[in-house]
Formats: sequence, structure tokens, C-alpha cells
Amino acid sequence: MSNDINRMITDIEREVTYTSHMIGRKVLADRVMQVMSRVPRDQFVPPELRAYAFANGPLTIGHGQTISQPYIVALMTDLLELEPDYRILEIGTGSGYQTAILAELVEHVYTMELIPDLSDKAEHRLQELGYNNISCQVGNGYEGWQEHAPYDGIIVTAAAAYIPPSLIEQLKSRRKLVIPVGQAHMPQELVLVDKDAEGTTHTRILLDVAFVPLRQGLMEE
Ligand code: SAH
Repeated sequence: MSNDINRMITDIEREVTYTSHMIGRKVLADRVMQVMSRVPRDQFVPPELRAYAFANGPLTIGHGQTISQPYIVALMTDLLELEPDYRILEIGTGSGYQTAILAELVEHVYTMELIPDLSDKAEHRLQELGYNNISCQVGNGYEGWQEHAPYDGIIVTAAAAYIPPSLIEQLKSRRKLVIPVGQAHMPQELVLVDKDAEGTTHTRILLDVAFVPLRQGLMEE
């Protein structure tokens, strides 16, 4: 493990400690942290930003979008409480970094991206890195991906104006959805939705976050 990744891991652990009263855990699962130290984040950022790839912050990836902060990626992954046989839906492929983290931990990841160019590039990058358990799709995440539903977990990596009902429908019982909720350029909250055995959902607000907006379509804004 390079020194840079070591530093990133220490930064994540420190931020988990600072925020433990909000996120309900003092440490993240070992296997999540192991994957964070294994997946080469520098392969997911534009070449001119490689020097900053292991800093604990978001970075621009073109089209006005960002690769999420490592702490947030680790936290959202941990919150899903993943098992190896899970099939996960991700909304907002972006660089594909979060997708790769998930793909290391579960059987299959279905990932949707609104911007065709980002989806194509992420798909290519993930193939080059040897992942064969990821399906990429261009589409609007507000609708989810009905074809492969229901999912063992759903993660949204852009801020939604509201929790999309189709995502709740496409989630299995006793499984979780993690999603930032809020208006663009306004404070947003990371929300953990639990669907119980009866199919009733329970939501918990964890902490303030800053994500790019989950858009209704390419023409919006
Ligand atoms: N998980 C990504 C984060 C990318 S930022 C990473 O680790 O790099 C959020 C992404 O969501 C952007 O690429 C944006 O284009 C995409 N997005 C925005 N609205 C969307 C929508 N309605 N459906 C699918 N993707 C959307």
C-alpha cells in the first residue's frame, strides 16, 4: 500500500471518529476499509488531478460532476451492510469509483448514469481494471432500473429533491437505501432508509453533505 493511500485511510478513520455521534458507528467495517485501501482512486480521476487522488476531498471529473470524497464513499458503503451475495443498484456512476468499491464487496453492481459520456468512460475504465460483475446503463436514476429489481441495497450518489418512490419499490425488504436529500446548492442531508420485513420504510437523517444534484433530465438547469 502506498503512503498516499495510507494517508487517505488515516484521514477517513479520523473523520469517522469526528462524526461518530451522527453516523452511529465509531469505526467502519474492516472489509470496507480494506477495499478502500485496494481500489486505485488515481485511476478514476483526470490525469492532471492524479497528484490529489488520495486527498480526502471530492475532485472534478468533467461535465460539472465530481468523484465523491473518500470518507463519504466509505461511509455510504458501510451503511449498506453489504453481504457477498448481494445485488446492488447505484445511481450516479460518475467516475465509477464508488461502483468499483461496491463490486469488490458484492456479487453484482447495476449502475445508472444520466450523462452518456461519463457512463461510457466509466464502463471502459472498469473493464480495463478487470471488473466483470458490473452492468452500466445510461438513464434517469429517479426511475431506477426495474429490469433487475428488487435489489439488496441501493445507493444514490447525487442529491435528490425527494426520495424517489421507484427506488423504494425496487428495494427488497430488510435492506437499505442510502441517499443524499436536498435542493441543489442548499444544505443536504444524508438519509438512510431501512425497509423492514413488512415493507414499511424507516428513515434516519445522518449528517450534512454536499453532492451534485440528481437531475430530472439532461435538459434541466
Ligand atoms: N459515484 C460517483 C459520483 C458521481 S457525482 C463517483 O464516485 O465518481 C453524481 C453523478 O450522478 C454524476 O455523474 C451525474 O451525472 C449523475 N446523475 C445526476 N443526475 C442523475 C440521474 N437522474 N440519474 C443518473 N445519474 C445522475
